Amino acid sequence: MKTKVYININGVKKNTQSLVTEAQKYGISVAGITKGCCGNEAFAQALLEAGVDFLADSRIENLEKLQHIPVEKMLLRSPKLSEIEKVISYTQYSLNSDLQVIRSLSEVAVRKNVKHSIILMIDIGDLREGIWYENLNEIYHIVDTIIHLDGIYLAGVGTNVTCFGGIMPTEENYKLLIKIADNIRQRFNITLPIISGGNSSSIQMLYEGRIPKGINHLRVNQSIYTGIEIGQGQQIPNWENRIVTLEAEIIEIQVKPSTPQGTIAKMNAFGEIKNFKDKGMRKRAIIALGRQDMNIEGLKPVDSTITVEGASSDHLIVDITDSNANYSVGQLINFNVTTYASIITAMASPFIEKISK
Ligand SMILES: *Cc1c(COP(=O)(O)O)cnc(C)c1O
Repeated sequence: MKTKVYININGVKKNTQSLVTEAQKYGISVAGITKGCCGNEAFAQALLEAGVDFLADSRIENLEKLQHIPVEKMLLRSPKLSEIEKVISYTQYSLNSDLQVIRSLSEVAVRKNVKHSIILMIDIGDLREGIWYENLNEIYHIVDTIIHLDGIYLAGVGTNVTCFGGIMPTEENYKLLIKIADNIRQRFNITLPIISGGNSSSIQMLYEGRIPKGINHLRVNQSIYTGIEIGQGQQIPNWENRIVTLEAEIIEIQVKPSTPQGTIAKMNAFGEIKNFKDKGMRKRAIIALGRQDMNIEGLKPVDSTITVEGASSDHLIVDITDSNANYSVGQLINFNVTTYASIITAMASPFIEKISK
């Protein structure tokens, strides 16, 4: 049987509703993100039912899949020059930082006779995408160019934090972005309606009412799955944290020593040097799931007496000695998928069936 991941759609809805309700108190709109689930339709519908204003994704392929859903779409990753046609066809908004890309968006939008909205990304310290906030001349130059291009509309500025450099959003760095937006508004006499302030790492500030006035848009993905805020790694109150679970099949059960025997190689097949604790003879199950299926680090057995010992490309080894359940070959073992890396790789895996429930 194929390994299955289950998406708890009610949990997705509950978390997103809480987020949207809180954001609305401060006039902040929320883009619901489908990249973590590779554009899963039931997930996207749950986000919409919970009240998000946009569907957003980094990959145009996912938004293309969702094109029949009547809501504005936003491409989160700067478009590839080679995919501009699709970006114009399947989205109304994109996050941008490159003038060549923006010119190309303009050309294609004019040809297709549509208006495409641009959020200009400003880097306030995390060192992923965007124009560095101190390079004001470059920011003004790019704004000046955009507002004179046909087919596109400069809808706002945005920033992304806690993705590469691990920089948290703060009142201080948010104010840098708000100031830049204000300067652009005055200098070019434009409304620039959106200031898009970030991602899951802003949730704590949001619930504490500390997001500075001016930030009016957030784009949230990973916390919806984990129920955990990014800065301190704390559970978000009243959010569901069991969104993704997995079920995989046992293919072997054997009693074996807990330390390998023989000459130890310098490292295993994955370049790791493992330390084994001698716990005597243990009952071990092999599950037909491995690192080629997904990142296995976030797999936590629902049966808490089971421990994950490790995995190779296609075999996951678990210790079932302490379990009261009488496992046998052919049975399924359930896991909570607890980390973002594990969730996104499971969702993208062709070997794993995705089921919403
Ligand atoms: C992935 C992404 C987000 C969402 O980030 P999370 O921390 O997962 O909420 C927001 N903005 C951009 C540009 C992204 O690429």
